[in-house]
Amino acid sequence: MKKIAIYPGSFDPITNGHVDLIKRACKLFDEIIIGIAHNSKKKAFLSINDRIDTINTALEDINNIRILSFDTLLVDFASLQNAQVILRGLRTISDFEYEYQLSAMNKHINPNIETLFMTPTEQYANISSSLIKEIIALEGDISVFVPASVKTLLKHRL
Ligand code: ADP
Repeated sequence: MKKIAIYPGSFDPITNGHVDLIKRACKLFDEIIIGIAHNSKKKAFLSINDRIDTINTALEDINNIRILSFDTLLVDFASLQNAQVILRGLRTISDFEYEYQLSAMNKHINPNIETLFMTPTEQYANISSSLIKEIIALEGDISVFVPASVKTLLKHRL
């Protein structure tokens, strides 16, 4: 049986922290599906297409990933994709509190899907998409925090 993990998130935008986690996780699974959560009620910074393009370019050297968007319950999306595992990153205590609740809920809805947590590599531990967006809004330099694909897109857009 193919070992498939879903790595869900907003990826708005993808950061070097996400990229590092995906590259490490790719060695542990046959396939990683990067699931871009599409929430029509939440105002997004980048469109789903821009997010797919920037992730695709950032990870073009990896061949066991797929990038999909979803607007259903995460566990439903995971079972539709035949994934056994939901992968999440844990950076801080506040991440833990939220993620613990989320994983318990998901387990309740579908006990067949396990949530696995990975901690960040130290140098990426404090990078988050929301901080990146704040820096962009204040016209700061985000180069060291995001892959080149995000920098290129923003250069064209802003
Ligand atoms: P969400 O809105 O679902 O939190 P994100 O795109 O912000 O989506 O994050 C997706 C996942 O990646 C989450 O599990 C988050 O904890 C994890 N993550 C985000 N940034 C990092 C990072 N720098 N290092 C490791 N994991 C991270």
